[in-house]
Amino acid sequence: MPHVVTQACCGDASCVYACPVNCIHPTPDEPDFGIAEMLYIDPSTCVDCGACVSACPVGAIVPGHRLEEKAARFVDVNAAHYGYTQQDSVRFPVQQDWRLPLAPIEKPKALQNGPAIVDVAIVGSGPSAMYAADELLKQPRVRVTVYERLTMPFGLSRFGVAPDHKSTRLVMDLFDEVARHPNITILLNTEVGRDVTLDELRSKHHAVLWAGGAPTDKPLPVPGADLPGVQSATALVGWYNGHPDFASAVPDLSTERVVVIGNGNVALDVARILTADVEALAATDISRAALAVLRESKVKEVVVAARRGPEHAAFTLPELIGLADGKARVWVDPADLDGASVDGIDDPTIAAKVSLLQELSQNEKPAEPFIRLAFGQTPVAIEGDSRARRVRFAQTGSDTETVVEAGLVLTSIGYRGVPVPGLPFDDETGTVANVAGRVTDTPGVYVTGWIKRGPSGFIGTNKTDSGETVANLLADIEAGVHA
Ligand SMILES: Cc1cc2nc3c(=O)[nH]c(=O)nc-3n(C[C@H](O)[C@H](O)[C@H](O)COP(=O)(O)OP(=O)(O)OC[C@H]3O[C@@H](n4cnc5c(N)ncnc54)[C@H](O)[C@@H]3O)c2cc1C
Ligand code: SF4
Ligand code: SF4
Repeated sequence: MPHVVTQACCGDASCVYACPVNCIHPTPDEPDFGIAEMLYIDPSTCVDCGACVSACPVGAIVPGHRLEEKAARFVDVNAAHYGYTQQDSVRFPVQQDWRLPLAPIEKPKALQNGPAIVDVAIVGSGPSAMYAADELLKQPRVRVTVYERLTMPFGLSRFGVAPDHKSTRLVMDLFDEVARHPNITILLNTEVGRDVTLDELRSKHHAVLWAGGAPTDKPLPVPGADLPGVQSATALVGWYNGHPDFASAVPDLSTERVVVIGNGNVALDVARILTADVEALAATDISRAALAVLRESKVKEVVVAARRGPEHAAFTLPELIGLADGKARVWVDPADLDGASVDGIDDPTIAAKVSLLQELSQNEKPAEPFIRLAFGQTPVAIEGDSRARRVRFAQTGSDTETVVEAGLVLTSIGYRGVPVPGLPFDDETGTVANVAGRVTDTPGVYVTGWIKRGPSGFIGTNKTDSGETVANLLADIEAGVHA
């Protein structure tokens, strides 16, 4: 039975390059790569060679015969992407010609021109920075200095990824390896703009690569959003992951109901953590201070409220499967799915999502604490006195209003980059203005990651993104263009 990509996929495409028969898609050259919810293995061409398993940094690929029951849905998900049913895919015979040669890994072209030692500064040490450093360090003449404002490296892979997503956090082992390279220096607790200026970096290094991420939340534009008891999911994530900026963002968990506005993967993360078994969390990297507060939690229900219907759910299918088949207790009110149907949905991933939500709506309301996934709810106002007490929703597309009592409201409607002093900013996208990583009208300065393309994709998406920027940076060094 063929190999299967499961939920921990972070999209770095290492498996794509390892696969000798090109059966993992979308590849970075295909248009869907940046927006796909995961990568999929074609069961009809997989020859079960196992090369992808060892290439995957987060253990996301499993031979079909070793799939645990909770991951079994992924057989169907991978097969459906190629138009097969599960029955088809289990019948695919293991092919015998697996000793095909591995695709040759392209070596980067060595720099021919430019300075004898090329000095590159990278601002930030998140995934995009570390993938860029990895790519740059393939050049023996390049030296990299990373400037990181925090006392711990690796950005959101440490301070964003949920503590119970242990396999995804394994990507930090890869970054640790990059950090051990003899030609890289990482300066922690060094903020560019506070401890050193961008101009100083430009005069000291041949090129500066800004990889500072998109650190702010989009604000929720409704009355009452500034009441105490309303906070961003980002602040809560930072708090439970021990991010120093959010040490004082302690949520009030004396309330029985929490509302999360927005239903992306981050919304699911916070809902899962707020309803998780505290003893299970104790075995993760979660902040000890957060664990102590969670132990005293009175929360019985977390409502994750989305403005649109289930077919537009922002969370990805692998995250929903992880939630539904994992330890979380999840429920969907059948009324929220009124009229929802998989008929006419062409995309098999979206159809699978709607069908799983329908399955969840047929269950009894689970024991507390549980998560309710709500749909078609537009927040109109957050009401209260000295603090938030309830959220007023309008049913999307109608005037019918409902009120949900909640003492804690978390907003999770997306991230946004902030302007970098001295660099051009595109206000519409919230990114530093650039063309394929070259900052507009600023020779020798480059961007990568969320500040380059906006807050989209997975950790591994930053690998392809940084590959593009580094290729242009090296081409400019070769051509004699540098800061
Ligand atoms: C809450 C959350 C959970 C996520 N979970 C997952 C997941 O489970 N799986 C997955 O695949 N993806 C996940 N993602 C997405 C993933 O984290 C991002 O794709 C990735 O981190 C973006 O990388 P980046 O390098 O652009 O930014 P970041 O990771 O934000 O790194 C930016 C770094 O720059 C530093 N910095 C900023 N300004 C300065 C300055 N002036 N001077 C010095 N240093 C500076 C910051 O401290 C930070 O370390 C999650 C994202 C969030 C927000
Ligand atoms: S097992 Fe081999 S053939 Fe199958 S997807 Fe992985 S690398 Fe490709
Ligand atoms: S994490 Fe990377 S190597 Fe693993 S399955 Fe996803 S894209 Fe492939």
